[in-house]
Amino acid sequence: MKYYNTIILGSGASGIMCALNIDKYKVAMLEISSKPFKKILVTGNGRCNITNNKIYKFSYNQNLDVFFDKVDYKHTLTFFQELGLECYADTEGRYYPISNMAKSVQDVVLQKLENKVDIFTMQEIININKEEDEFIISTTNNFFKCKNLVVATGGASENLLDILNVKYKKFIPSLVALKCDDVKGLSGIRLTNVKVSVNIGDISYSEIGEVLYKEGGLSGIVIFNVSALFARSGKFLGKIKIDLLPNMSFEQLKQKLIDRKKLNVRLDKIFVGMFANAIANEIFRQSKVNTNINSIDINENMINILTKTIKNLEYTVCGCFDNNQVYSGGVALKDLKNNLMYKYINNLYFIGEVCDVDGMCGGYNLQWAWTSGKIVGESICCN
Ligand SMILES: Cc1cc2nc3c(=O)[nH]c(=O)nc-3n(C[C@H](O)[C@H](O)[C@H](O)COP(=O)(O)OP(=O)(O)OC[C@H]3O[C@@H](n4cnc5c(N)ncnc54)[C@H](O)[C@@H]3O)c2cc1C
Repeated sequence: MKYYNTIILGSGASGIMCALNIDKYKVAMLEISSKPFKKILVTGNGRCNITNNKIYKFSYNQNLDVFFDKVDYKHTLTFFQELGLECYADTEGRYYPISNMAKSVQDVVLQKLENKVDIFTMQEIININKEEDEFIISTTNNFFKCKNLVVATGGASENLLDILNVKYKKFIPSLVALKCDDVKGLSGIRLTNVKVSVNIGDISYSEIGEVLYKEGGLSGIVIFNVSALFARSGKFLGKIKIDLLPNMSFEQLKQKLIDRKKLNVRLDKIFVGMFANAIANEIFRQSKVNTNINSIDINENMINILTKTIKNLEYTVCGCFDNNQVYSGGVALKDLKNNLMYKYINNLYFIGEVCDVDGMCGGYNLQWAWTSGKIVGESICCN
């Protein structure tokens, strides 16, 4: 039996941050995979979007001020700077290492962890019991005992949460490409600078950016963000509207189409030089106007219909693809104290994605991992 003051289950972003903030006590991390802090390498397309200096209404599924008042993006930047990591912000407030390599984040962290924390990899947790004031953890090849147990195993941790017998909200994939049953034959087409809008329950959301068509659905950062809103609603069902020219008003666009009548071409060629052919075909498919006429002959009604379609391409969301970046759901914050200790089991803490906190793209999910990890690490040190 190995004894530690604190055992952290999972060696991802939140677990690492927690471990590095416990100076006072003997700490171990139990990791199911073969290497600690591995997932960080795939974040931000290999660049690791470490945090963000702006928070908007829908950046998270709930208000987290009570936590960010204690630890925010500035603490993250200072923490990493002290480890030797140099970062820069882009125009959207997203921070990346100046090397543009997530590996730099992993390197500075693992260097600091060396000799500080005992890391046990390939640990599959079989059972956890609490006897008096101590947790006893059995893995496939070890037994551990500790006073403080921190769960940092990320999203979709149902098995572990069931072993611990704690309450949690169902995990649902988030930041994920969306399946739409009416997207056909446009795979690989990229739309830039378009406005995507959704109405989900009483939430209206729109964002300008890039959308990528894929076989049977839509992808891209804006779609990922929209997927977060569907995930938070509990189901991937609803309409997505795309305004292809958000910087032009309805009237301006209508006038443009009136001007293009004089191109004197078959109607199905009127968008040559304005939209990719595949998108022009999609506009005609959705608008259902008869293209078998000359552009000179289109009437006002048809112009209105085409203008409306360009500003409202519509798709029906019917599900999500695999390869989600995060999960919505987990242990509810209402069941945790402000130091993230579970209200019903003393000295049991939850940090990172295993909590019912999910963010949009932009460094928000990692910031929650850093914030929650540091809060728990510091709280344990004050014990
Ligand atoms: C492709 C991709 C790109 C992303 N890019 C970004 C980005 O740029 N910016 C951003 O903010 N967020 C990004 N995210 C999200 C971000 O990675 C997560 O929100 C963050 O890693 C969550 O940290 P965590 O510590 O809660 O969990 P994780 O980082 O998932 O770590 C959990 C750890 O626990 C281990 N584990 C799981 N189950 C057990 C078990 N039963 N026993 C022991 N160990 C276990 C896992 O192997 C893992 O090491 C991205 C995610 C993905 C998938």
